[in-house]
Order: sequence, then C-alpha cells, then structure tokens
Amino acid sequence: MMKCPYCKHPAGLLRIAKVTNWTPYRCGFCHRRSQMPRWQGALLGGLSGGIGGAFGGIIIRHYGYLGWIGFLSLYAVAVFLVAWLLCTLYPIEDKDLE
Ligand SMILES: [Zn+2]
Repeated sequence: MMKCPYCKHPAGLLRIAKVTNWTPYRCGFCHRRSQMPRWQGALLGGLSGGIGGAFGGIIIRHYGYLGWIGFLSLYAVAVFLVAWLLCTLYPIEDKDLE
C-alpha cells in the first residue's frame, strides 16, 4: 500500500486522489511531499485504459450508455484502489526543502 516515504504513515486515499503528474502527494502527518514514479503511472494508465476499453465495448452493447457510465465510475474506484495497494511513493524533497 502507498506509504509516506518519510514517516511511513499510510497514504490517505483523498490525498492520493489529488495527485497528478504536476501535483505531488503531500503527507497529512509530516506534510512533506513525495511523488509516484512516472513508469507506475504510465503502466497503470495503459493497463486500465486497455482493460476499460475492452470491457466498455461489451458493456455498451448489453447495458447501453447508462450502464457504461455506471461501469466507468466503479472501474475508476477499482483502478484507484489498485494504485493505492500496489504503487509506491518516493521522496522529492531532497533538493527543495521548504
Ligand atoms: Zn509523512
């Protein structure tokens, strides 16, 4: 599971939801910043896009667009949980300490 690389506190789900390529993760306990490795983000995006696209086609055929929207929201939560369980954070404050 994602942990703060400084204080080893488990990362908060709401805080991870705000992390993007341009916005680093900020620990709620020690308030230091860390980032998800770029390759993990790319891998996750590629895999989730591929699997989501494949399932999306099947679901639209059987349940229509409303079913697809429902599937997408559930799927986004699932991808997010997988990211939280499998991805790691690395410290980015070696050079620019506040
Ligand atoms: Zn911390």
